[in-house]
Amino acid sequence: MASQFREKIDSKPLKVLLRGLDSEDLPDLSCRYVSETEPYDAVIATPEETSSENLEWLTGGPSPLSTVIVVGSNAGVRADYVAESPNVENLTAGLRIAVDQRELLESVSDIPFNQDREGLIALGLMFSRDTSIEPVIDAEKSWVMEYPMLGSFMLPRQILESIADMGLCRRTFSERLYICGECRGARILAREVCANCKSANINTRELVNHYRCGHQAPRTDFLQGELLVCPKCNSHLRHFGVDYDTPGQVIVCKLCGSHENEPAVAFLCIDCQHQTDGESAGWVDYFSYTLTGAGEAAVRKGSLPGTQLESALSGLEAWRSPRDMALLINFCRNIYERYERPYSLLTIELRDDGDIFDRLGAQGVAKVHRLVVDTVANSVRETDGVSLFDRKIILCLPETSPEQSEYLVKRLRSIFHEQLKEPGDVEIDILDEEGRFEILKEAKSR
Ligand SMILES: [Zn+2]
Ligand SMILES: [Zn+2]
Ligand SMILES: [Zn+2]
Repeated sequence: MASQFREKIDSKPLKVLLRGLDSEDLPDLSCRYVSETEPYDAVIATPEETSSENLEWLTGGPSPLSTVIVVGSNAGVRADYVAESPNVENLTAGLRIAVDQRELLESVSDIPFNQDREGLIALGLMFSRDTSIEPVIDAEKSWVMEYPMLGSFMLPRQILESIADMGLCRRTFSERLYICGECRGARILAREVCANCKSANINTRELVNHYRCGHQAPRTDFLQGELLVCPKCNSHLRHFGVDYDTPGQVIVCKLCGSHENEPAVAFLCIDCQHQTDGESAGWVDYFSYTLTGAGEAAVRKGSLPGTQLESALSGLEAWRSPRDMALLINFCRNIYERYERPYSLLTIELRDDGDIFDRLGAQGVAKVHRLVVDTVANSVRETDGVSLFDRKIILCLPETSPEQSEYLVKRLRSIFHEQLKEPGDVEIDILDEEGRFEILKEAKSR
């Protein structure tokens, strides 16, 4: 075992980056130190350098999946190994892990600097660490649940949800957190409150039922000293089961005086003090995510498969790959220049930030996508072209004048206006000649 490790680092030295440490602070190790601009297999770092606020150098650097060895007692968020004291024995144990992970990572493509990057980092970590990505409770954060492995991501949950939607990892339910209706944080305290005025100043009282007059009220209303006297008809209630019984309990509000059968639940936000009704409170489900075969294939390939949007659009007669779209636009431009026959180029852009996921959830976003795809499908002719550049749908309409495309855009807008809560989630533009040229360039470069 030990000799195998020697062999592996002798035949191919481990490239190690130091963060917050100097090679003079460390014993002699069998590795080669590199600068942060060149790829590395492992990092030896201080806990501060690997805290979630400071991890940008790792996720934005050349080797976001490299093995992280933390020196110190306080493990940073993405530590693969913690060397409490930086002696040869401890650090070599960390480097052994790096050698094993390097072997796995050699079968993986480099992580590209494009819109797939964060999804691929998440999948790459699951693959090379043979682990699922799990949320943990972090009371320091207003949203409470964190994915420490994805410490430096702006929106780790949204990234994980989108790769799960693509079938690249599998969800396992972890926790449901209710959120504040005002600030959307999850640091909220549940309390029973008066269903009428929402005050938490409530008491549970035994209910007394006077048989003869049918009056029901809390026991305290009947009490006169030691005696029970009906406040409605003034009779003395002497015998339980003969004069009266106690059919249950009642919630009495000390603020508004209301009597209710059941208390309501409300959440008090410790961050913004807003009170959110239990009935209308939203929640966020947190999952842990496990790599699937499709996810492993995506990491090896170094790209995420086409989005659901692409698979839906690519079923249309008018669907064009970016390359075919470039040909179609070129064709239209030539006809336009030679014969002055018009053509139009439209873009339909879908918002794709964390906000829309928070508002609509993954299912709601999928619904918006479906509406857009259906609307596009009903609007294009066979001779038109439809393509997708990231989240932007491109419509190329040969033999279509600006007036005609204006008419189409109006129709699309009115459909989205009717069907979407926030029509601004979908943006439609008719491109001028300059914009059309930009799209042509983009289509060619894809
Ligand atoms: Zn709040
Ligand atoms: Zn009340
Ligand atoms: Zn009575």
